[in-house]
Amino acid sequence: MFGRRHKQRDQKTLIREMTRLVGAQHVLYEDADLIGYEYDATIERARPEIVVLPANKEQVAEVVAICRDYDRPIVPRGSGSGLSGGAVPVKGGVVIVLTRLNEIITIDTANQMAIVQPGVINLHLQEALASHGYTYAPDPSSQRICTLGGNVANNSGGPHTLAHGSTVNHILELEVVLPSGELTKLGSKVIDAPGPDLRGLFTGSEGTLGIVTEMTVQIIPLPESVVTMVAIFDSVREACEAVSAIIRRGVIPVALEMLDQEIIKIVEPRVNAGYPLDAGAVLLIEVEGLKDSVDTDSQLVTDACKDSGAREVRVAETEGEREKLWEGRKGAIGAIGAAYPAYYLLDGVVPRTKLPQVMEDVLEVARSYGFRCANMFHAGDGNLHPALMFDPNDAGVLDKVLDCAGEIMRLCVESGGAITGEHGVGLEKRSFMEWIYSENDLRAMENIRTAFGPADLFNPCKILPNGHGCAVGHAAEISQMISSDTDKAGLYV
Ligand SMILES: Cc1cc2nc3c(=O)[nH]c(=O)nc-3n(C[C@H](O)[C@H](O)[C@H](O)COP(=O)(O)OP(=O)(O)OC[C@H]3O[C@@H](n4cnc5c(N)ncnc54)[C@H](O)[C@@H]3O)c2cc1C
Repeated sequence: MFGRRHKQRDQKTLIREMTRLVGAQHVLYEDADLIGYEYDATIERARPEIVVLPANKEQVAEVVAICRDYDRPIVPRGSGSGLSGGAVPVKGGVVIVLTRLNEIITIDTANQMAIVQPGVINLHLQEALASHGYTYAPDPSSQRICTLGGNVANNSGGPHTLAHGSTVNHILELEVVLPSGELTKLGSKVIDAPGPDLRGLFTGSEGTLGIVTEMTVQIIPLPESVVTMVAIFDSVREACEAVSAIIRRGVIPVALEMLDQEIIKIVEPRVNAGYPLDAGAVLLIEVEGLKDSVDTDSQLVTDACKDSGAREVRVAETEGEREKLWEGRKGAIGAIGAAYPAYYLLDGVVPRTKLPQVMEDVLEVARSYGFRCANMFHAGDGNLHPALMFDPNDAGVLDKVLDCAGEIMRLCVESGGAITGEHGVGLEKRSFMEWIYSENDLRAMENIRTAFGPADLFNPCKILPNGHGCAVGHAAEISQMISSDTDKAGLYV
């Protein structure tokens, strides 16, 4: 089924075929043009041979077919905001950029669904839905820049997925181009389609099984009432304990985010969110729903925080105050970029009740390597994001950063957690997969991949460790996460 008619491997002919299909201005192959597609938002880096920007699903399918004919690996790409090296073309080949497929095709409030193309920016969908009184729940902190296709590929979460679930819970149907170049539909427009859940399998497959060309997503009505609070603690431990205390009282806030002292000191002078500079940690908490239940829930949250040692719980009284509180959280990574020459952002997940101990251990590990470590994370999900700050000019610092990150990931696994809560495995963490999966588990994943198509065609060397269809080392160079780059990319996140 997957036999290939290899054409001449000549790059010039390949470029000519791509140009004929999508137009000269949408095929990039000069060094200066390719640089921007060497990396995503992490430190991995590799240059593609060609970048192609198709305009529609038919062109995507044809580009895939041409890549098969020319035996070129394919790397799908949205905005390149991924934090695991997923869009890095580690084996060269053709990067297919989906940002021109950026139409919101239908908003169907009666059936609570929207049909969108994969290059739509997450926030643009939320903004379009707001005028209908609706929203799309998954809201990665990068939502001003990331695409919905990238969200599907990484099964992205966000501050508001604690109550609503991550992307996979909001996808009804996917139209995808398979490695064979065929267009197919997975799932259906009504929930619980008969047959195996290929929609669920595809979501989170990080661009290794095909390319999303259209998606039907579930939308939800905007809530009648929203209360946003900030609880101020003297220590990270107390704030972590409050997270479990809130949920024990039967309240699932829509958002439960933590910022520690290090990040407060970085973000507050830049954003003026209203986080006290002497706080050990703050929890940003949001409850929503019908007015009466929101009043009850916010009182329960306040009580749980106070019982856990909060010195103050403040409620945002105006929309402006609410926005400021969120600006602090969503501007945190941009603020690190402005304050430090470089940083490395980690993503792990632990059982919520283990957070107090794991957070102390994380800080200890970072200290032992001599790194400052700032933390802002989706605490309600047990999803932590330590950011290690460093100077890229220090000799040997990258190895030290990666060793420290590996130790922190180990802590997550040993506490019963995992190596990613939402950013995906990508290129960056595939060697850690052996910590959580047996050889048989990994083989089963490899078999699924080859059932879709040749493992070396679609996003090779992602997710699975060496020995499972690919062997490659870290492509890392300290290429970005440098303040000016972050600002230029418009990453207000
Ligand atoms: C500052 C910052 C904050 C972030 N906050 C969050 C957060 O809160 N939650 C979270 O989950 N993530 C977060 N991220 C990570 C990132 O934004 C998400 O993973 C996002 O979904 C990536 O979307 P993208 O369009 O940038 O995808 P890319 O980076 O371009 O690609 C990501 C992966 O998706 C694949 N892909 C892209 N488009 C398609 C497609 N159409 N079909 C098939 N595969 C495709 C790529 O091959 C790659 O493997 C953050 C990143 C940054 C820089």
